[in-house]
Amino acid sequence: MATIEVKCPKCKKVEVVKYGINRQGKQRYLCKNQECEKETFILEYSDLGREEDRKEQIIEMAINGSGIRDTARVLKISTTTVLNELKKNYRKLAR
Ligand SMILES: [Zn+2]
Repeated sequence: MATIEVKCPKCKKVEVVKYGINRQGKQRYLCKNQECEKETFILEYSDLGREEDRKEQIIEMAINGSGIRDTARVLKISTTTVLNELKKNYRKLAR
C-alpha cells in the first residue's frame, strides 16, 4: 500500500493510506499511526487544497501587514476564521 499526501485530521501525520469507498462514494482513509485514536476518515482533495491555500494566504497577508478585516474581505471569509488561523500561527508570526 502506497502512502499518499493526506494528513490525518486527528494526529496530523501523513501516515495515511486509502481505505476503500464509503456509502456516499467518497474515498475513505486509514491512519496508520498506531498511537492515533482516529482510524478511518473521509477527506476530499478539493476541500483540503482550498483550505491549505487559504491558510497560507492568511499568514502571508498578516506578514505583509494586512489587518484582520482586510484579510477577511479579500479572502471572502469571516474575521473569526482569520483570527483563529492567526492564533494557531502566533509563534510563527511573532518571530
Ligand atoms: Zn491519525
